[in-house]
Amino acid sequence: MKQSAPKPPEPPPASFDSLGLSEVMMKALESAGYEYPTPVQAGVIPRALAGVDVLGQARTGTGKTASFVIPILEGLQLKSDIHHPQALVMVPTRELAVQVRDEAIKLAAGRKVHCVAVYGGKPIREQIDKLKRGAQIVIGTPGRVLDHLARGTIDFSKLKFVVLDEADRMLDIGFRPDIERILRRCPDDRQTLLLSATVPPAIAKLAERYMRTPETLNFSPADISVDTIEQFYFTVDPQRKFELLLRLLVRERPKQGIIFCRTKRGTEKVFLRLQKKSKDPRIVAAIHGDMNQSARDRVMSAFRAGKIRFLVATDVIGRGIDVSSISHIINYDIPAFCDDYVHRVGRTGRMGREGVAYTFVAPDEGYELTRIEERINRLLKRDEIKDFDPHARERSGLPIGDRPVNLGPKGSDGAAGSGDPAATPPPPPTSLQRRPPKRYRKAL
Ligand code: ADP
Ligand code: MG
Repeated sequence: MKQSAPKPPEPPPASFDSLGLSEVMMKALESAGYEYPTPVQAGVIPRALAGVDVLGQARTGTGKTASFVIPILEGLQLKSDIHHPQALVMVPTRELAVQVRDEAIKLAAGRKVHCVAVYGGKPIREQIDKLKRGAQIVIGTPGRVLDHLARGTIDFSKLKFVVLDEADRMLDIGFRPDIERILRRCPDDRQTLLLSATVPPAIAKLAERYMRTPETLNFSPADISVDTIEQFYFTVDPQRKFELLLRLLVRERPKQGIIFCRTKRGTEKVFLRLQKKSKDPRIVAAIHGDMNQSARDRVMSAFRAGKIRFLVATDVIGRGIDVSSISHIINYDIPAFCDDYVHRVGRTGRMGREGVAYTFVAPDEGYELTRIEERINRLLKRDEIKDFDPHARERSGLPIGDRPVNLGPKGSDGAAGSGDPAATPPPPPTSLQRRPPKRYRKAL
């Protein structure tokens, strides 16, 4: 048999081993199931270990958290007193504080490290007690961190690391004065790491002012949207959006999905309607800024555990949150800012998994769609649902009916093909079709 010419060997992937990590770190990585560093990790970790200030830019879902958590853990002095935090990580949302803390705890396996998350919406007392018990790593939202500083319940005089995670988002939502106030209270000889999906001029300025000759490492390819995500749009009249959502869910049977709405009220409405329509109302939940923190925490952990399949959300959770089994993102309302599109869609396709994103576009929102397409440098594909009229004409379309529908993932009880009539879309409309029940005619 003719032998084909041998292919040139592929360059070996960087290994965690080659980054010069400690044995205990290697073990923790192994039990976390991290075999190879992601590009941002391979780039940031060695520089951070060398004591350099780093501004790391990489798109969402590429492992930025471990890229700063690993050097912090390697740099902690575990023998020194535990009442002076050695690392401060600032994050824009409460959910992220919890997520980063959990990642730090996971990667700290085998070491005695106290990680405390401080964020608003939870009684400050509890956090003070935790801090009193010791904290080498503090992860917090700027407001609450300042609060602790003002009360004297946190002492940053021995900080070695300061991290700004999701820096672009923090500046977006007006944390800048808080961040600067906190940074001024941190020792000058600390090491500063800044992680961001984008580096707008405001971040560059902040970096210039508060970092020591930072090195910028950019891992964002020109195409900022995750390649493994298929992206579609539907044109639909606002009054028909909910019906479209139901049809889409029945067609797709997502494993797990987030339905993004623009406002808290809209989120609540879609959530209630969806819950009413679902055979198993427990699989649907909402999350938005009006909910108290413990309710938000409960929802997020149930979502992470896969107990909740559909999360109706505002952009409050559009950034940074990592739930790897999300298969579908549905932009029920087109995002107001195109950056939010990138972040919402980045909730799926995590770590190279496949995902799909659908955006509902009202007839007068073409401009928004174009701006998104320009931003991601790619055209969204047009989609439509068979036998569904997206226009709110009287008598048009067929409502999905009054029966609850099975919104379970493919292959679940009553899934398409299993014979459950509720699982399959209704037959195409006939000319004798009755008017949709009143509640479907109402605009959202
Ligand atoms: P980012 O902050 O860039 O959005 P995250 O730090 O949230 O990304 O990481 C995304 C997901 O990838 C998380 O579930 C994390 O546990 C996982 N992950 C991170 N690094 C690795 C790795 N080296 N190998 C495998 N999975 C990883
Ligand atoms: Mg992150």
